[in-house]
Amino acid sequence: MAAPAGEQYEVTNMKLFDTHAHYDDSQFDHDRDELIASLPGQGVSLVLCPGCGMRSSRAVIALAERFPFVYAAVGIHPHEADTMTAAELPALLDMAEHPKVKAVGEIGLDYHYDFAPRDTQLFCLRAQMELAKSAGLPVIVHDREAHEDTLRLLRAFPTVRGVVHCYSGSMESAKELLALGYYISFTGVVTYKNARKALETAAWLPGERLLLETDAPYLTPEPHRSHRNDSTYLRLTCETLAALRGVSAEALAAQTRENGLALFNIKE
Ligand SMILES: [Zn+2]
Repeated sequence: MAAPAGEQYEVTNMKLFDTHAHYDDSQFDHDRDELIASLPGQGVSLVLCPGCGMRSSRAVIALAERFPFVYAAVGIHPHEADTMTAAELPALLDMAEHPKVKAVGEIGLDYHYDFAPRDTQLFCLRAQMELAKSAGLPVIVHDREAHEDTLRLLRAFPTVRGVVHCYSGSMESAKELLALGYYISFTGVVTYKNARKALETAAWLPGERLLLETDAPYLTPEPHRSHRNDSTYLRLTCETLAALRGVSAEALAAQTRENGLALFNIKE
């Protein structure tokens, strides 16, 4: 279900790339196919679905096989780090070779929830950075309250590029990420009242390193924050950032789409 009838957005020529949406999540079980099929008609022309574990990675590949405008990433989320066994790495590498898999992710560190011990999270991230390096794929990085350790690990793999998703770090870290060749991605959080820090970075960031994402079903932009998120709400994040940067929403949509195609090596 997108916006309720009557609230449906006008169809424009906007072509957004939602670079991070979890359409394998059970919150989409009752309407997944219908919703995804409706996206191109609602201004969303590309979607990348990251995997959050072995099962989730298989599920997003299956979605990418069914919808031509959906791409996948495979990886083990830091929340799931203690489920990773050494035996799974070859299977993950196998999946990474699928033609519609465009990145390794969602990988990273989460010191806010600490669902897995930190040394396990670090081990899991390092192993998957190695995997990205050997597969020649970019990474999709989750960094929550772990900025220092995340940067240290990314620095250790200078040939790997990627995106830090749902950016919450400082301007200083953003500068270092850019120097490492990384992109920075923003979610609906930029529409929230407490988004000052993210907005500071988003206003300053060079346009060619900016990506847009929903992180659906989470982080729905205002004024729909109480609803389940989906890619049709990405327009609100795009409009907020476009106003902040003094460009049109159409121009920002086009630029961030180009950036996504470049980073994930997607040829249309
Ligand atoms: Zn995510």
